[in-house]
Amino acid sequence: MGSQRKGKVYLVGAGPGAAGLLTVRARRLLARADAVVYDRLLSPRLLAWTRPDCRCIYVGKQASLHTLPQADIQRLLIALAKAGATVVRLKGGDPFVFGRGGEEALALSAAGVDWELVPGVTSAVSVPAYAGIPVTHRRVSAGFTVETGHRGDPAEGTACAAPDGAPPSPFDHTRVALMGVGHLSQLVENWLGAGWPANTRVAVVSWGTRAQQQVVDGTLADIVDQVRAAGLGAPAVVVAGETVGLRSRLAWAERLPLFGRRLLVMAETRELATDCADDLEDLGAEVYEASLEHVPTSVAEDALAKGEAATHGLWEALRRETAEWALDAVWVESSRCLRALQAMGIPVTGVPVLWMRPAAGEDETSGPLQPVLEDAQKVAEFLVRSGQPTGAVR
Ligand code: SAH
Repeated sequence: MGSQRKGKVYLVGAGPGAAGLLTVRARRLLARADAVVYDRLLSPRLLAWTRPDCRCIYVGKQASLHTLPQADIQRLLIALAKAGATVVRLKGGDPFVFGRGGEEALALSAAGVDWELVPGVTSAVSVPAYAGIPVTHRRVSAGFTVETGHRGDPAEGTACAAPDGAPPSPFDHTRVALMGVGHLSQLVENWLGAGWPANTRVAVVSWGTRAQQQVVDGTLADIVDQVRAAGLGAPAVVVAGETVGLRSRLAWAERLPLFGRRLLVMAETRELATDCADDLEDLGAEVYEASLEHVPTSVAEDALAKGEAATHGLWEALRRETAEWALDAVWVESSRCLRALQAMGIPVTGVPVLWMRPAAGEDETSGPLQPVLEDAQKVAEFLVRSGQPTGAVR
């Protein structure tokens, strides 16, 4: 980061979770960034698209600690930009939808830092979509509103009116609440109080688009009990209205062959890792990718000499993620790749190891014990056949 270069911050929407829902522009900026500042809830896969010498800085919640305070995040962004860095501030969904992106933009402007905004796919629309719930539908719902379910005060939480002032009805309108599952009974009270009947259809979708996606649907009368019984928690989108009923016919994501599976691809080159991970994602899996290019010893000499990329932030993100969610399998190109995963602290013990090609010619004495599966389709067939449980929680 030469100090003569002018830094800039890109406030970038990362989408709801599935890596493939990142925009093309966001991906291009990630590939260029000197530093990425990112939150909880984002797939570590996104970090595999950064340069091996990119600084990845996590500002989300630690296991027992709180998120870095907003003012500290803003100070960090300003400091990085003033040091000349091209910074990607990755934020879940769309930065301007309850993401405090506006606050960050104002702080950057006030500090005289250049910034740009890259909109993202918001969870308000995409998470219901992954549960098979359209937010509008001809003759069923002519519009939708998005609100925060976080406000404790019922008087504040009920704001929902069409532009002409008439309160929307569940028979021609869909109501979406973010940050609402922790206060679900309050939210339901508010909606009932606003005149929505107790038999209004409601769904709660937690961790939408990710392997651990779970959906509970019911009515305003029983959703609180149902959500409690299923043990659903944040992050979740609450969606109410007649279109929820379409889910029984439109729940497409849950039908994909690898829905609910979490896999890690590790190849020698980033190109192959990305291709293989894309193929698995197309089959419905949640995929993380890594390659030897992000392993310190294979980083360009000069980067190492400068002390950069000592350990790429991708590994930290992968360690955090795999400590929380169990992997269903790792798909590796070579035994070198497997050793690198172990060296970087990714827990692969007890996780099925699938190989992209035979280990012949390598220095392994025994060779792979697990099957050689050359393409994603074969990986899918293997996993389905072996009947691995899906979406296991560690
Ligand atoms: N800017 C984000 C929203 C930030 S507020 C966006 O546009 O999506 C955070 C809330 O978003 C969470 O409490 C939850 O209600 C919702 N959310 C984000 N990602 C989600 C996901 N994958 N599944 C369910 N809810 C999600």
